[in-house]
Amino acid sequence: MSKNGNSRPSWDEYFLKLAMLASERATCPRMHVGCVLVKDKFVLATGYNGSLPGQPHCDDVGCLIVDNHCVRTNHAEINALVQATTHGVNVKGTTAYITNMSCTNCAKALIAAGIERIVVFSDYHDTLATNFFTESGVKITKVDMPEREINYDLENYSSAKKTERSK
Ligand SMILES: [Zn+2]
Ligand SMILES: [Zn+2]
Repeated sequence: MSKNGNSRPSWDEYFLKLAMLASERATCPRMHVGCVLVKDKFVLATGYNGSLPGQPHCDDVGCLIVDNHCVRTNHAEINALVQATTHGVNVKGTTAYITNMSCTNCAKALIAAGIERIVVFSDYHDTLATNFFTESGVKITKVDMPEREINYDLENYSSAKKTERSK
């Protein structure tokens, strides 16, 4: 059940839950962030904060702290933009669903890429993101955190064919 008492999530809840799911892949223990870029209700790209390809994870070797921030990872927003770039996807006009408000640099990158709207449920410390977004005309929507649970009621779906692995 979602917060509105409906078993079916709203679009915003759905995409934020996808962002929360992406964040499960994050590799820095200081913060887990997920980002999903959406246009016309289609997911164009996803990202989470993680190390550069081929480089060690904070979870394995510890964080790389500079000025009280871990700088080892690319942030979720950057990785979503990189994923889009890798596949030649134009993200202009998209909505970015992010678990947490962006840091200043990610906000600037999203704005430069043409993102039109941000949907978040959590803030982030010492960031100028809100200022940059607002001055650039990016709409910010702050919502409640969706429920953490994934509702997939396999046992009760009458059309599901049970297997050894799905009991
Ligand atoms: Zn780290
Ligand atoms: Zn960032």
